[in-house]
Amino acid sequence: MIYNLGSINIDHVYRVPHLPAPGETLAADSYTVGLGGKGANQSVAAARAGARVLHIGAVGAEGAWARDRIAGYGVDVAQIAVLDVPTGHAIITVDPGAENSIVLFPGANQALDLAAVLAALAGIGPADTLLVQNETTHAPAAAALARAQGARVICSAAPFDLAAVQAMLPHTSILVLNAIEADQLCAALGCSLDQVPVPELLVTRGRDGAEWICNATGARAFVAALKVQAVDTTGAGDTFAGYFAAALDAGQTPAHALTLAAAAAALKVTRPGTADAIPSLSEVADFLS
Ligand code: ATP
Repeated sequence: MIYNLGSINIDHVYRVPHLPAPGETLAADSYTVGLGGKGANQSVAAARAGARVLHIGAVGAEGAWARDRIAGYGVDVAQIAVLDVPTGHAIITVDPGAENSIVLFPGANQALDLAAVLAALAGIGPADTLLVQNETTHAPAAAALARAQGARVICSAAPFDLAAVQAMLPHTSILVLNAIEADQLCAALGCSLDQVPVPELLVTRGRDGAEWICNATGARAFVAALKVQAVDTTGAGDTFAGYFAAALDAGQTPAHALTLAAAAAALKVTRPGTADAIPSLSEVADFLS
């Protein structure tokens, strides 16, 4: 089973003629509201991949619909608290060239209660996986508990923050990085990827595919990105991470997990949207056949 200590954000997306300049008031051409947050995306992806997923997180009262939306994908939301603080949200402006600017307010994602998080992990064991990203509080304590119980901990180092990543390294089984984060981490630590002090790494490189590296054995596996007409790459990394985690949790090899994850992420980028655009396992199987 997958436990995901993860952020839940409401994405407010405004299409604008250009990104607003300081002091400018600008009329938007359109406005959409969607479910987002790296945690929610990864929970949806893992559930769409067929895993049993328990999401641990929080929303504000006005964000209860986001919890319901996550539940609609088959994720167990019993451990998503409704707190008296605003739901995490992103104000996203997108110009006609798809350039964006984002204001992120973490809200309820940073108001989680440590005791509640640890209590939600009470049943975790060696057959389970904990997912964490860098958008909620208490990830190191949760990961330490999960590792102590023998579970696999998969940590996405995004949004990248060196201190936060360093706090997670001792408790991480598989560190997930995109190409930019991998460069940032190696530069900061002054080492190569295979010297980062974690047992395994998953590095996604957009259209250049993705790589799994096992530092313990020196084993590596690579998958090329599938050739598709990209429409919206938002959430590609989370789709990849959620599918990869679900496959490993189901006992698949890293190589097979890479194949499924690359196909799921490629299908996602052909569709606009984030959580709502993540494909199901049967769609991925059709795509691969
Ligand atoms: P995001 O922040 O947008 O979620 P990311 O930077 O975390 O993305 P990427 O490395 O860009 O993650 O993408 C994750 C995976 O998605 C890639 O390894 C690849 O398999 C797939 N992918 C991304 N972009 C494309 C594309 N244009 N075509 C096909 N596959 C893609």
